[in-house]
Amino acid sequence: MLAQFPDPAEALIKAGTIDLTKVMALIVQKYGGTSVGSVERIQAVAQRVYKTFKAGNSVVVVVSAMGKTTDGLVKLANEISTNPNRREMDMLLSTGEQVTIALLSMALQELGQPAISMTGAQVGIVTEAEHTRARILHIETDRLSRHINQGKVVVVAGFQGISSAGEMEITTLGRGGSDTSAVALAAALRANFCEIYTDVPGILTTDPRLVPEAQLMDEITCNEMLELASLGAKVLHPRAVEIARNYGVPLVVRSSWTDAPGTWVISPQPQGRSLINLEIARPVDHVEFDTDQAKVALLRVPDKPGVAARLFGEIARQQVDVDLIIQSIHEGNSNDIAFTVTTPILKRAEAVAAAIAPALRNQSHPKLEEAEVMVEQNIAKISIAGAGMIGRPGVAAKMFATLAAAKVNIQMISTSEVKVSCVVDATECDRAVAALCTAFEIEVRESLCTNSPLPNTPLVRGVALDINQARLAIRQVPDRPGMAARLFGLLAQNNISVDMIIQSQRCRVIDGIPRRDIAFTVCQVDGESTKEMLTQVAAELGWGEVVLDSAIAKVSIVGAGMIGQPGVAAKMFEALAQHQINIQMIATSEIKISCVVSQEQGVQALQAIHAAFDLAGSEKFVVPA
Ligand code: ADP
Ligand code: ASP
Ligand code: MG
Repeated sequence: MLAQFPDPAEALIKAGTIDLTKVMALIVQKYGGTSVGSVERIQAVAQRVYKTFKAGNSVVVVVSAMGKTTDGLVKLANEISTNPNRREMDMLLSTGEQVTIALLSMALQELGQPAISMTGAQVGIVTEAEHTRARILHIETDRLSRHINQGKVVVVAGFQGISSAGEMEITTLGRGGSDTSAVALAAALRANFCEIYTDVPGILTTDPRLVPEAQLMDEITCNEMLELASLGAKVLHPRAVEIARNYGVPLVVRSSWTDAPGTWVISPQPQGRSLINLEIARPVDHVEFDTDQAKVALLRVPDKPGVAARLFGEIARQQVDVDLIIQSIHEGNSNDIAFTVTTPILKRAEAVAAAIAPALRNQSHPKLEEAEVMVEQNIAKISIAGAGMIGRPGVAAKMFATLAAAKVNIQMISTSEVKVSCVVDATECDRAVAALCTAFEIEVRESLCTNSPLPNTPLVRGVALDINQARLAIRQVPDRPGMAARLFGLLAQNNISVDMIIQSQRCRVIDGIPRRDIAFTVCQVDGESTKEMLTQVAAELGWGEVVLDSAIAKVSIVGAGMIGQPGVAAKMFEALAQHQINIQMIATSEIKISCVVSQEQGVQALQAIHAAFDLAGSEKFVVPA
């Protein structure tokens, strides 16, 4: 396995700071909360670290707070304040990890292993001054290397850092941030690999707590893992995957309780990035465009289980490969579903849609509500892509603002955590691409969306459930350049990350202005405040009502093998239809399909989809408490 990765010796020579004659490999190991949840478990971790060191390796260990310590600290703070000061939150939460580093170092010393504990500040993990969600700027490696060269195991507190000289504020990276600390340290030290030890044997096809038949995978590409992690698979933090991908850090997730090999996250060859501004350099890697696209929309289809399954089932039977699919929120009891296809197969796609439309007549209002097919030929899809946009709401906002400034109207928006795609008029494509390339300082590249799947990649690698999202909809937003920019600019200013964004296809003229609804999902904790903020500006901007639904769940499938393969979406929708689960929203990107369903049906939806793609194994996993 290791042969695929950069030669260990070469990596160490490049690092220049480690004495080559003394080490076999430099390994960063990270142990999560459950793995260090008791004194006995800390002692077991010490044994594993000791064994790794004795085998001739240098070891840097990153640890989380013990068990549910961080949750306990958050609870304490909330007993004192409903809105605790963020600086003081960091001061409080960073204490959890400090307990573990001291105890683990003592446990190692008891085994006769020289070890030293270090806080993030002592190491020099320098971050932005953004409390509770700081990004790492750079890591000083001198002190670490000195201890390593003296034959010590260095035990570093995960999840924390320090803002740059002058301020010296203790910061934290955001919940789950120890994964990020570990991979960033591995990148900075140019370690041979980074091992994430946790309470499951590796990355599984889905969360084994929800689907015990989930199967362990040997490997997964970093792009797939990035999507899975940001869609709810908390086994790895997406920022950690992002760093591994950007710096080519070999990364493996393994069980703390066994010696099984675990799951490797495969990154492309490193591109020789600077270690300065580690987490904030270049939010966008490239601009892609595809002018060979056409859009088919079905307006006013009934809002009930099985409709998407029927439509896309038929489309798959006709071997039509669809690219983007979006289904917007419903008004009354009907929905709009739109999808894009490549121009050569438009006729076939249109025929399928037209044939099925009469059958999709809305039963409750047969006269008023008749499904209508709308085709648009002269469109182009323009995307910005890059792992650096995760958790940075300003990036999508900047894309929309750039398009608005170039007077380009956006017809469809579809997002994933690492990509934002907009459908625009084909005649505006060149102008839009040029403006985006200037704004994000990048070179143009042809669309990556080739119609051939990657070799040997499963159609669906994994399934994820996210129940921490809320859906917001703004009714009747005037359809003109700049509206999406305005909306997402406001969200970005308030630091609200938007996940799925969908514009309705239906355009209604009210007061002489064409209008569309825009729906998007945000983190549940931001739901109420976002609704309030938007309601305040709605009248002034000429928007309609702002509607919030917090009882939603998002279920997603991810797989690089689905590119260019007809029928994957149909299968997912069919699995939901069979269980009478209504789909409220659909959004896709090249390697994922997400559906919003009601929260109470979330787990059932996950289980149904996992089974439909034959991901279940014969063994059942029981995650130890
Ligand atoms: P740690 O404390 O070690 O960081 P986490 O609780 O953050 O551990 O992450 C491990 C948990 O992630 C598992 O116990 C499991 O319930 C959950 N999980 C969610 N999706 C997956 C998946 N696809 N594969 C494995 N574990 C998953
Ligand atoms: N202790 C922190 C948390 O619970 C960081 C981590 O464990 O990754 O979020
Ligand atoms: Mg974790």
